[in-house]
Amino acid sequence: MDAAYDAAKVAQPGWAQTPLWKRAELLHKAAALMREHAAPMAAALVAEVAKPAKDAATEVLRSADLISFTAEEGVRRLGEGRALLADSFPGAARSKMSIETRVPLGVVLCVPPFNYPVNLAVSKLGPALIAGNAVVLKPPTQGAGACLHMVACFAAAGFPAGLINTVTGRGAEIGDFMTLHPKVNGISFTGGDTGLEIAKKAAMIPLQMELGGKDCAIVCEDADLDLAAAAIVKGAFSYSGQRCTAVKLVLVLDTVADALVAKVGAKVAKLTVGAPEDNADITALVSPASAKFVEGLAADALAKGALPVAGLTLKREGNLIHPLVLDRVTPDMRLAWEEPFGPVLPIVRVPTVDAAVAHVNASRLALQGCVFSSHIDRALMIADAMSTGTVQINGAPARGPDHFLFAGFRDSGLSSQGVGPSIEFMTKQKSVVINLPSASYATG
Ligand code: NAP
Repeated sequence: MDAAYDAAKVAQPGWAQTPLWKRAELLHKAAALMREHAAPMAAALVAEVAKPAKDAATEVLRSADLISFTAEEGVRRLGEGRALLADSFPGAARSKMSIETRVPLGVVLCVPPFNYPVNLAVSKLGPALIAGNAVVLKPPTQGAGACLHMVACFAAAGFPAGLINTVTGRGAEIGDFMTLHPKVNGISFTGGDTGLEIAKKAAMIPLQMELGGKDCAIVCEDADLDLAAAAIVKGAFSYSGQRCTAVKLVLVLDTVADALVAKVGAKVAKLTVGAPEDNADITALVSPASAKFVEGLAADALAKGALPVAGLTLKREGNLIHPLVLDRVTPDMRLAWEEPFGPVLPIVRVPTVDAAVAHVNASRLALQGCVFSSHIDRALMIADAMSTGTVQINGAPARGPDHFLFAGFRDSGLSSQGVGPSIEFMTKQKSVVINLPSASYATG
């Protein structure tokens, strides 16, 4: 880790002096190499994190597109500065001009999670590099193989030696050493509550934190229930629910609850369970600990009176949890508040929209949410009342497209993401002030 930080520190100043167009050119090359060598990366995602093969291929190509987009966006955003004249401030004369630009942070530590090891690595790497930073990358232990294939593409693209440094190892063991390292100038982290601990210790280091979510779907009585059910099932069960933006709670109005539960249950009963190589909808979770945690949340809800729907049952085989929808979940159950990160969907019936919004706003996690209603003005008012980083109207929560703003409120995050905000996070603002002579130019 020391060697990685040392190399980054040495390489960074030269990189910051490299013309912006040249930095962009190298990013485009890395993106092209990722497209060309997508297969081993996708295969690693299937083998390491049980991602269905189709989704694994999509993750790699989406990541290459993200790098290309970042190169373009960086050239536009970082090529511009701002000039300010002093006399816009009360009482000041036109005797000073401030020129504001953005400069790199220095050495940025990038820590992605297991569920999108490639995509969430490049969403940090791309903005860091275009902005003139050097990088130390700590891949997730499960997903490290895919990450290393990705880094090999960057190396082959011709980035200078020492600029991108990858150190594998268990976060639990090397985490404090890497996050508290004296040579780190910024941390971009995606993961769970680990991020809260990092934030407590990080002191003056700029932090970009993308943390857990408890993304709720509010279904109003005027919703298109077929549309809502389809979006909820896709949102909740894609990649077996291991997505920060997965639908993790449904808040449905009493009057349409029976109809919605029936539609959701019917769809979930049809999901396939099996191997990622076969593109099964539901595959094994990432670890025994994760499967045990999800099982515990469901067991707690069942013990307190939640009802399984559509004949589904709580069934665990090793790391594999079969899909489960639990109706009549109540606020005393852990599942009403905690993030399962598995294929278990709780449904809470509410008497009013106000009660649904109050539940959303009482959650410590506030990444995204969604609302289903056939009246756009009503949906907008509900979206306005929901205190989450993003609210989707008539669609499931989602991160992409990757240039959209993405930010979690409360314990779900710190600093905004999305291509533009991430480029800005990777920089600090600097001003140079020109003090103009008091004499008129006409007199010299
Ligand atoms: P995690 O356990 O917090 O791990 C995330 C990363 O942190 C991994 O690379 C991990 O390395 C590393 N790490 C572990 N302990 C550390 C420490 N003490 N110091 C520094 N780094 C440490 O999360 P995960 O299980 O991989 O991912 C699932 C979580 O991520 C969920 O809560 C999900 O909602 C969240 N997530 C959020 C977003 C978002 O954009 N908001 C996106 C995706 C996922 P090891 O693998 O070696 O443990």
